[in-house]
Parts: sequence; structure tokens; C-alpha cells
Amino acid sequence: MSDAAERPRRRLAIDAGGIATPARQLPSPNRDARPPGTAITLLVVHGISLPPGEFGGGAILDLFANRLDPAADPYYATIAALTVSAHFLIRRDGALIQFVPCAERAWHAGASSWQGRPRCNDYSIGVELEGADDVPYTAAQYAMLARLARALRRRYPIADIVGHSDVAPGRKTDPGPAFDWDRLRRLTAPARPRSRPPPP
Ligand SMILES: [Zn+2]
Repeated sequence: MSDAAERPRRRLAIDAGGIATPARQLPSPNRDARPPGTAITLLVVHGISLPPGEFGGGAILDLFANRLDPAADPYYATIAALTVSAHFLIRRDGALIQFVPCAERAWHAGASSWQGRPRCNDYSIGVELEGADDVPYTAAQYAMLARLARALRRRYPIADIVGHSDVAPGRKTDPGPAFDWDRLRRLTAPARPRSRPPPP
């Protein structure tokens, strides 16, 4: 067993500006201010891989930095001009990367609505999981997503966790049927209070 696995994990925390610690910070220019006074009440889960179905490269980071090379892959030519971002990416090994502080608006949901309320980017956090609709996400990704969701709930009044496909039905399919919502629900359920020792 590696040292990393035995070392106690640092608690994931979100500071007042919405920066997660510990997370690698790769600021994206694709962001702006949320409408004044907007509470963050929604977490949107996405799936992404570039090229689609291939994991581990740097293309997602390039896309969010507006540096994707359209000549590097036929698919990239169709998306290289997009100005998009998410607050977070969770890689296959569970590594957490942040592109936009939570206090600001990331450009992840596009035309969208949740429970009749449009423009989900205004009031949501976007989390990309490196993956594909029909490929099981990894245990490390579920674990990190759950940690992140718990940390976000400590900072913001998150009421719902949904998929991109839930807020843009018919237009988006991610995170896809491979995403196990029950597993996430189990991992994010409030911890049961510890049983107290009997009184002396
Ligand atoms: Zn998406």
C-alpha cells in the first residue's frame, strides 16, 4: 500500500471566494460574474472526454483555456472555437482540478433550466467527470465528487444535484447512463450521528 493511501486525507474545503483546497488551480478565462445576489443552489454533473472516449490527455484543460488545437483531432475542429468552462474537473484517478472560483459563473450548462428556472449557469456549480456516457465512472471519481459535494454544501445552499442531461434534455446526454446516481446519493447522504458513549 502506498504512502498516499495511508496518509489521512486532508479535509476538502471551499473558501469564501469559492476556491477549493486542495485542488490544482488552472484558471479559465471563460467566466464572469454571477447576477448580483444569486444564491448557489444547484450542482450540475457533467461527463467529458477528449477525444470522446479517450482518457488521460490534456485536451480538456486546453479546451477550458481556449488553447485546443483544432488540427490535433477531427473532433476538436468542431469544438475548438467554443468558450466553455466548468468550475471543476475530476479526472479518472480522482484528481480534482479547479478552473473557475465558485463565486463566479462558469460556462458549462449552456441553454438550460431546472424546475422551470432558466440559465442554470447563473446559480449552479459545474463539475465535469472525465468519462463517457456508457463507460463506468471510477470509484475514485465517485469518492471525490462526494467529498466535493459535501464541501460545497457546507459553503452554499445546494438544494439539488443533477446531470447536464436533466437541465438540457434532448440537447445533452452527459453524464450518461453509466453514471450511478444511487451510488452518489449513498456517498453524499448526511453522516449518521455517532453513537455517544453511555453516561457514567
Ligand atoms: Zn455537460
